[in-house]
Amino acid sequence: MDFALSDEQNDFVDAIRDFCDRECGTQDQRERLTDGYREHHSFDLYGQMAELGWLGVTIPEEYGGSGGSMLDACLFMEETSRGLAPIGGYATTLIVAGATQRFGSEEQKAEILGGIAGGSVEAIAMTEPEAGSDVGALSCSATAVDGGFVLNGQKVFCSNAHISDHILVVCRTTRGENKHEGMTMIWVPRDVDGMEVVPIETMGGRETNHLYFTDCAAPAEAVLGEVDQGWMQLMAGLNVERLILAATMLGIAQRAFDDVLLYVKERRQFGRPIGSFQALQHRLADLATDLEAARLMTRWVATLTDEDPDRMLPQQASMVKLFVTEVAKRTTLEGMQLMGGYGYSSEYDMERLVRASLVSTIYGGTSEIQRNIIAKTLGL
Ligand SMILES: Cc1cc2nc3c(=O)[nH]c(=O)nc-3n(C[C@H](O)[C@H](O)[C@H](O)COP(=O)(O)OP(=O)(O)OC[C@H]3O[C@@H](n4cnc5c(N)ncnc54)[C@H](O)[C@@H]3O)c2cc1C
Repeated sequence: MDFALSDEQNDFVDAIRDFCDRECGTQDQRERLTDGYREHHSFDLYGQMAELGWLGVTIPEEYGGSGGSMLDACLFMEETSRGLAPIGGYATTLIVAGATQRFGSEEQKAEILGGIAGGSVEAIAMTEPEAGSDVGALSCSATAVDGGFVLNGQKVFCSNAHISDHILVVCRTTRGENKHEGMTMIWVPRDVDGMEVVPIETMGGRETNHLYFTDCAAPAEAVLGEVDQGWMQLMAGLNVERLILAATMLGIAQRAFDDVLLYVKERRQFGRPIGSFQALQHRLADLATDLEAARLMTRWVATLTDEDPDRMLPQQASMVKLFVTEVAKRTTLEGMQLMGGYGYSSEYDMERLVRASLVSTIYGGTSEIQRNIIAKTLGL
């Protein structure tokens, strides 16, 4: 398998790097764009990226995108994370774009995919208080009525619901013997009557929400794909979802590594740069090795996905999510340790990189769940 990037892809990476240096390269710029790091998404920056045609990277040309590959999308996620671009709304948007492309009607594709290419944020709600790792246990109901459905119940940890145009809600439409049957994906606009969006305070700032549904009406046309086939539709999107999270964390790990490498070369103690101590050199050598392995793995799974977008890759998708997010966590925590007290201080970016990486082994399926899936593919 050839992991070399094309000239066009190298130019794309260079363009994103230049953009991030120019628009969010300093602490002052990032503070301004994020209201002092309280928000993780800047519509100002996002709008500029939409104008450059970057947000539609995976969207077909007929819906306003550039019809690129998953590898292109991974390069975009990696490079914007590395450049600390505050576009936290994009990951869920890309997950929703994939589901819409696979299962949407023509009208839904035109509206949702066209909106995404133009700068909208989209959210997806699966998790509930009693259905976290066990997504199949979800119970938020959509009851069929004349002309559509009525939603009742609760969702938790719905990222970006507060800034999205729509939320794709995975609901229970039929209760039977098999918990994985009888789920349906239904769109609701963010300002719909009968849905309350309540923020959840986290160590990452304002990013995720509770959703409460009370007799919330959705028309029949709001169903994405087929009624009762939500589980199968979720499974079809796993390669993309896990890759996107991996690529995002690859960029975070790379940034932490870049920052700490620079720091140990400059910081002097005992009359010499701390990077001259072998105890630190070996740890940086390990991090650099991990990082290259994480990059190869991300490109490997992206390439496999591009070869056949309909092929399910449960083992490889779980491996890349598990490995890259654990590398990111290790890299940022080591970065903090190697920078001493300054790594812990908000004056530097490292503590924010630690916070971003810690949650990545939890959302999108925890590391334990990824290991369960990999073990299952090994016949265990
Ligand atoms: C910041 C953030 C953003 C999120 N965004 C979204 C979103 O946009 N949309 C959405 O639907 N969800 C979202 N989530 C939810 C996320 O996917 C869940 O938190 C995650 O799947 C874990 O579920 P849980 O928190 O209920 O933990 P639990 O499932 O209760 O797990 C608790 C612990 O038990 C372990 N565990 C559970 N079952 C097993 C098992 N069978 N074997 C071994 N270990 C097990 C877990 O690995 C974990 O360590 C988000 C979460 C966070 C924190």
